[in-house]
Order: sequence, then C-alpha cells, then structure tokens
Amino acid sequence: MTTTDQTTTTVGHWIDGAHVASTSGRTAPVYDPALGIATKQVALADESEIQAAIASAKAAFPAWSNLSLAKRQQILFAFREVLNRDKAELAEIITSEHGKVIDDALGEIARGQEVVELATNIPSLMKGEFSDQVSTGIDVYSIRQPLGVVGIISPFNFPAMVPLWFLPIAIAAGNTVVLKPSEKDPSAAIWLARKFTEAGLPDGVFTVLNGDKAAVDGLLTSPDVESISFVGSTPIAQYVYETGTKHGKRVQALGGAKNHMLVLPDADLDLVADNAVNAGFGSAGERCMAISVVVAVDGPRPAGTDASRSDVAAEPVGTVADELVAKITERAATLRIGDGRRGCDMGPLVTKQHRDKVASYIEVAEQDGAEVVVDGRTVRPDGDENGFWLGPTLIDKVPTTSRVYTEEIFGPVLSVVRVQTYEEGLDLINSGAFGNGTAIFTNDGGAARRFQRDVQVGMIGINVPIPVPVAYYSFGGWKNSLFGDHKAYGTDGVSFFTRQKAITSRWLDPATHGGVDLGFPSN
Ligand code: NAD
Repeated sequence: MTTTDQTTTTVGHWIDGAHVASTSGRTAPVYDPALGIATKQVALADESEIQAAIASAKAAFPAWSNLSLAKRQQILFAFREVLNRDKAELAEIITSEHGKVIDDALGEIARGQEVVELATNIPSLMKGEFSDQVSTGIDVYSIRQPLGVVGIISPFNFPAMVPLWFLPIAIAAGNTVVLKPSEKDPSAAIWLARKFTEAGLPDGVFTVLNGDKAAVDGLLTSPDVESISFVGSTPIAQYVYETGTKHGKRVQALGGAKNHMLVLPDADLDLVADNAVNAGFGSAGERCMAISVVVAVDGPRPAGTDASRSDVAAEPVGTVADELVAKITERAATLRIGDGRRGCDMGPLVTKQHRDKVASYIEVAEQDGAEVVVDGRTVRPDGDENGFWLGPTLIDKVPTTSRVYTEEIFGPVLSVVRVQTYEEGLDLINSGAFGNGTAIFTNDGGAARRFQRDVQVGMIGINVPIPVPVAYYSFGGWKNSLFGDHKAYGTDGVSFFTRQKAITSRWLDPATHGGVDLGFPSN
C-alpha cells in the first residue's frame, strides 16, 4: 500500500489518518446513477489490507480509550462543527454516487448529525451507578468501558447517515472503528474520516476499509474485532449475525423491511395521500423506512370525514380506497423525476441492475392480476437518457400472495391492499416476515392506541409515515428486520459499544478483619 494525500479516481482506504491507495488489484465501478456511467472505481481490499486496517485500529485503542472523557467530548464537538459547516460538500458526494436529490442527501446528513450531537454528551451517557453501604463497610458500583476495535458494515442507501448511527457513539465511548461502507457509494465514508481527522481525531481511531465480501468476512472472523454493527438486506444481516456471533462477537445486524401504512376510513385522505407519496417515493423508495404498502380499510367514506370536500357528507364518491388511489395518482403526476442536482423531487435508482430488478416487479404485478395505476417505466426524466430511471409506480389491488407484496422491492413502487376491517389490516401486518416500521392514519385516538399496543413492529408512526426515532431513542425493528439484542443509537447504542463492570469494594476504617468464614457472605 502507498499513502496519498488525496482521493484519486480510485477510492482507496483511510488508514492511520490518511487516504491509502490499494494494491489489491481488485476494484469495482462506482456509478453516477443520473448519468449512467462509472465515474470512478472503488478498491476491494485483499487480506493484507484487511489485516493492516484492523492492526491500525488495534494499535490506536490503548491511547484513545485512556484519553479523558472531556478530551474525547471536545473532538466530537469539533467534528460536529466541521460536519455542519461542510455538509453541502458531503451532500454533493452522496448525490453523485447514490442518485438521491440534494435536499434528501442534506436530510440524511441532518439525521446523522443528531447522533453526533447525542455523542457529545458522552460523559453523561457513560455514567455508572453507585450503591453506598450495601453491607457494612461495603459499596457496590458499576463502570462502563469501551470494547476495543469495533466493525461497522453499511448499506448503499444512506452512505453518511447509517455510518453516523454508530460511529459517533462508538468513538466517543473510547472504541476504535473500522468501517466497511457499501462498494456502491464509498466516498462519503472517506469524507467523514477526513473530516474527523481535521477535527483532531488521532490517527487509527477511525479507519475506512473499502471492499466486498472478503472485507466483511475479514472483520467477522478477526479475533481483534470485538463487535459488528451491520445494516443491509435480511439474508446478509442473518449471515453476519450468525458468523459474527460464532466468532465470539457482539453483533447487531439490521435487515430489510416491508413497511405498511394502515389507513382507517375516518382518516384525512389528503394527509394520507401526501404522506403516502412522500414516504413511498422519497429517495426513489430506497429507504428501509419507506412505505411500500398502503393497507386501506375499505368501505364507504363516513359522512363528513373529508375536510377538503363539502359534498362528501351528502354524496360519498366511491370507497375509501378508490378515493385514496385517485388522490395518490394525482400527486404522483406532479413529481419531477430527474438528476438530483437539478432540483427534482426524485432521482434515479442506484444501479442499472437494481433499476431493472425493481421494474421487473411491475411485470409480476400485471401477471398476478393487480392493477398498475401509475407505471414508472414510462417516465420522462429531467436528466441524461442513460440514467437509471424508474418513475413512481402505484399498484392497486395487489394480491397478498404476489411477490410484489411478499418481497422487499426497495424502489419507487407503492402497493395498495384493500381490507374490510381494522383487524384484517392488523393481522396482515403482523403476519409479515419483517417488523421494521409501520404507520396508522386515523382520527380515532383509541384505535391508534390499540394499534400501537397490538402491532408486532419496532417503530410505529401515528399519522407520521416514516417514524425514524430521534437520536436519544433507539432505531431498530423486530423479526427479520433486526438480528441481535441492541438497536442502533440512543441508550441501546451506548450499551452496545460499552461493557459494564460491577465492583464490590471495602475499605477498612478502622482496620477490622472479619476472620475466616466459608459461609455465603451476607450483610
Ligand atoms: P446489502 O445487504 O446488499 O449490503 C450491505 C452491506 O453488506 C454492504 O456493505 C455490502 O458490501 C455487504 N455485503 C453484500 N453482500 C455480501 C455478502 N454476500 N457477504 C458479506 N457482505 C456482503 O444491502 P444494500 O443493497 O447495500 O442495502 C439495501 C438493504 O439494506 C435493504 O434491504 C434495506 O432494507 C436495508 N436497510 C435496512 C436498514 C435498517 O435499519 N433496517 C437501513 C438501511 C438499509
């Protein structure tokens, strides 16, 4: 490996506080999805680079973990300022490799920055407990210590936010980190590492190791890596959880999703339609908290429930689902799809292969007898003709046996399923394999409260379509959406990145010895 000062057209690694060019001879293309061309390559680490990255993090651990809380806190404060100052630059990078529109890239940075801000409070978050005089002359207390080298493996869809779910807390708690970003959009991770160095983080505390399965397996099997925080698709999450725990590591592995929005007949359908469009098509549906299924409790609209229409009480038009589908269709037609740098509403998909896979579900829908109401394949984008485009797609009357319903599509495809009752909708949601996020839209507080108690999902929105918890709560789903006991960030994050010790202490004053007693100690 050779050390260079700047990122060249091949994105390398960040080791010992500098960008390092790879000598593995293996690379993968990184595309600009709005142009449809590979604009750079990313290094795919070989065994010697994997070991060098881990060794650097291991060497940095003793000094970093012994630095005072106050000094670690100051570096987090400095990083927060640099991130906030230069976020426009990071947003450009994200858009150029992921495709999401600039505003959306700024949104993911803002959510990541929240976790940095939480981590600046590390002295309070790391506090232990103390019990005075638990027995005569004996006190018991607990302390939290960092784990050592921790691994983070992140997906393509949030190249800045997902690393920032873990990095700030892991680092502030005194760990050293090796981040393996997605090979589809690796530059944001290198940017974060460069800015951490600028903020005063000592070399080796934050390492970026670019690569593919070989790099992931290197982290999962290394005896020098204490924990793994993974975010990605369910099959890989499960593999990471099983392999990592088999190698004695603490693992949190967040997987895929299929998020439902349950709409009760009394809901404000304009609010629902706005939110279904935002949550279904924002970031081209490439969000793990995107709404991909609208479950409409169908039937005639109750009188007077549509605030926007004075005629509704007198003459209901169609069913709840008919009206909702019409409103979503109207809104989808107003969206401008195109290059994320041109002020469009929605960008392209991340790769051609992913675009084609998502589009193939529209054919499946047609074969399975669903109604394709808005077809994204006919989109006319404001962008290069070679971009990986697919417009917003709305599919009504999706059979729950169809792969369109059962599989995670991860694109701008919104399905509508019609049910007759609240219970039927709830059962449908609870019978799914995933349990990441869900939302209920209603004006009935009692029904919302019942839903919040009965639904088998980790994150719930009440008239909120994408209920991503703020940084001081924790993020994570149930079932196939999370393997492991710890969610991301919040108090779970602090707990994941620290190990507790309980200390029982006796200071003799005046010196009195209890003598020999082989019985069980009591007070
Ligand atoms: P992915 O599973 O393909 O990749 C995630 C990471 O795993 C990447 O770093 C990748 O290099 C690595 N990887 C891929 N194949 C591997 C293999 N065979 N062995 C070892 N490592 C491998 O996921 P993606 O396509 O980058 O991201 C989209 C997925 O992530 C979606 O399923 C989405 O729901 C999920 N996601 C979940 C959350 C959540 O919080 N639950 C958040 C964001 C994304």
